[in-house]
Amino acid sequence: MERAMRIIKEAERNARLEFERIDELMAGNQERVLRAFRNRGISVRHFSPSNGYGYDDIARDALDGAFADAMQSEDALVRPQIVNGSHAIFLALSGLSKPGFKILALTGEPYDTLRSAIGLEGDARHSLKQWGVDFLPVPLTAEGGFDYKTIEKSLTDTKVKIAYIQRSRGYSWRLALTIKQINECIEFVHSIRPDIRIIVDNCYGEFTELCEPTAVGADVIAGSLIKNPGGGLAPTGGYLAGKAACIDEIANRLTVPGMGREVGSYAASYQPFYQGLFFAPHVTGQCLKTAVLFSEVLTMLGYETLPKRGDQRSDIIQAVKLGSPEAMERFCLAIQQSAPIDSFAIPTASYMPGYADPVIMAAGAFIQGATTELSADGPMRPPYIVYMQGGLTYEHGRIAAAEAVLKLTHQP
Ligand SMILES: *Cc1c(COP(=O)(O)O)cnc(C)c1O
Repeated sequence: MERAMRIIKEAERNARLEFERIDELMAGNQERVLRAFRNRGISVRHFSPSNGYGYDDIARDALDGAFADAMQSEDALVRPQIVNGSHAIFLALSGLSKPGFKILALTGEPYDTLRSAIGLEGDARHSLKQWGVDFLPVPLTAEGGFDYKTIEKSLTDTKVKIAYIQRSRGYSWRLALTIKQINECIEFVHSIRPDIRIIVDNCYGEFTELCEPTAVGADVIAGSLIKNPGGGLAPTGGYLAGKAACIDEIANRLTVPGMGREVGSYAASYQPFYQGLFFAPHVTGQCLKTAVLFSEVLTMLGYETLPKRGDQRSDIIQAVKLGSPEAMERFCLAIQQSAPIDSFAIPTASYMPGYADPVIMAAGAFIQGATTELSADGPMRPPYIVYMQGGLTYEHGRIAAAEAVLKLTHQP
C-alpha cells in the first residue's frame, strides 16, 4: 500500500496543472448554475409534489426554467418520466422529424443503445426508419475530427433536415469532441443550410467545459440525469434543452400532441433534481479529477491512456488500453472492491444483448447504473480497453486508484 500511495502522490504532483484547471472549471460552472437558481427565484415551494394530471405544476415548470438557464438555452424539459439518456435523445430525434426527413449523423454510427431506436438493428417497431426517417452516418476522420468534405456533399440532399452530433466518445478510442470543434461544425453546417436543426447527444459532457453546445448554436441537447447533470442525487430521468420552438415540438412528442408540457405530475418531490443540478458542477469536477488521476497513474504503470495529460477533456470518460483479459479483470475488481455498495461482488465478463464480445463491468452505486458514480466497463477483446468514469468524491477515486495500482502490480 505504501508503494501505491507513493505512486498516487507522484501522479497528483504531475496532475497539478490539470487539477488547477478543473478547480477553475468547477467555480465557473457553479456560478452558471447558481445564477440559474437566482434568475428563476427557486424557493422551497418548488419542492412540493404534485399528482394527477399535473396541471400548473410550478415545481416542474420552474425546474425546466432553471435547467434551461443552466444549460445556456431558451427552454428545457426535465422529467423523471424520461427513462434514460437514450429516451431523451430519441425524443429529440423523433420530436423534430417528419416522414421523409433524413438525419445526417456527423459523428458516424450512434451509441449502441440507439441502434434499434433508429432502426439499424433489432426490434424495428416504431423505430425512426419505420416512420420513414433515414439516418445517414458520416464517420469521423482518422484523426477524430469532422469529415467536412463528406458533410458538405451530404448537405446538398434537401431531405436532410436534421444533423446529429455525439459529443462523448461512447465506447470508442477517440477523444470527446470539444465545444470548440462542435461550434466550428455547427457554424459550417448552418452557413450552408441554416434550416437544418442540430441535435447534440450531450451525455457525459455536461459541465466538463464552461459552455454547453447550446451556447454555441446547437438547437437541442439531450442527456441523462443519472449522469453529470443529476449531480449524483437525481434518482432517475432525462432532459432536453434548446431553442424554444424545438422544445415545444418535442414536448408534444413527450406526452400527447396538443397537451405537451402542460401535463405530467410527480408524486415525489423534485427537490433531489434541483439539488443534484446545484451539485452537478462540483461532482463533474470530482469525476474529471478522478479520471485525470487514473490517467496519470496508469501511464506511470506503462499503459496507454486516452485522454492523456494535456488533452482537452469534454466528457468524464477515461479509456485505458490494458492489453490482457487478466488486467481487465484485475482493474474491474479494484473498482468493485473500492465501491461503497456491492464491494463484495466479483466482476466477470459475460455476453450482453447488442454486444458482439463478452463485456466486463464494475459498479457499486447508490443509484442503479449511475455512471457519475465510479464505474468501469469494457468489451473483452483486444486491445482490451477499459472505459472508466465517475466518482462522486475525488477521495473515493483516489482510494480506487491506489487499489488499481495494487491489483495491476500483482500485490495482494
Ligand atoms: C449514456 C449515453 C447515452 C444514453 O444511454 P442511457 O444508458 O440510455 O442513459 C447515449 N449516448 C452516450 C454517448 C452516452 O454516454
